[in-house]
Amino acid sequence: MQEVKNLIEGYQRVHKKYFQEQPEIYNSLFEQGQSPKFLVISCCDSRVHPAQVMDTVPGDIFVIRNVANLVPVNEVDGKSHGTSAAMEFAIKHLEVKHIIVFGHSQCGGIKSLMEGDHFDHDYGFIDPWMNIARSAREHVIHDYPEEDFASQCARCEKASIQISLNNLMTFPWIKERVLAGKLFIHGWYFDIDSGRLFGKQGDQFLPVHELVIDN
Ligand SMILES: [Zn+2]
Repeated sequence: MQEVKNLIEGYQRVHKKYFQEQPEIYNSLFEQGQSPKFLVISCCDSRVHPAQVMDTVPGDIFVIRNVANLVPVNEVDGKSHGTSAAMEFAIKHLEVKHIIVFGHSQCGGIKSLMEGDHFDHDYGFIDPWMNIARSAREHVIHDYPEEDFASQCARCEKASIQISLNNLMTFPWIKERVLAGKLFIHGWYFDIDSGRLFGKQGDQFLPVHELVIDN
């Protein structure tokens, strides 16, 4: 199976690079532990690997990936909340300085959300999960009813980033750090078609090189 061999060969290239040619990176990460500055919340989409898109090295970014890069609201109910648990570790223990909600174009999760409820198949998890961004769908359908479906999806991808940014602030240990100026939250959007990366500034998404970065 060539596809499996490709993965093994990739691993061997990485091993050569990081464990033979530049061993100091992992030596340091092993001895001192990880201390990433960034928590990146990204989609599971195979075209959107934050470490590749931003060319980071091991130890740079702590990444949570879920369908459509969503942040749920704070719910302390004793149930299993994978995204919230990873956020808790990144913020309370690792004390990351930045959180980036990392959206992207052609998101399958957002497309599913825009289609509406699916009663005709047996997927049991996607609709309830995408419900987190339901108000983004409602906003797009209400404000842009005449646009074609692809354009509506693109709008919803961006609007859902704002929902996640809002939801981050429902966690008191995030809100207090943001208000104290110790933690900074960002909404970014990767356009797969053009390869361009945008950052949210106010109500707009600007090319990242145009963002005002003062911290
Ligand atoms: Zn996606």
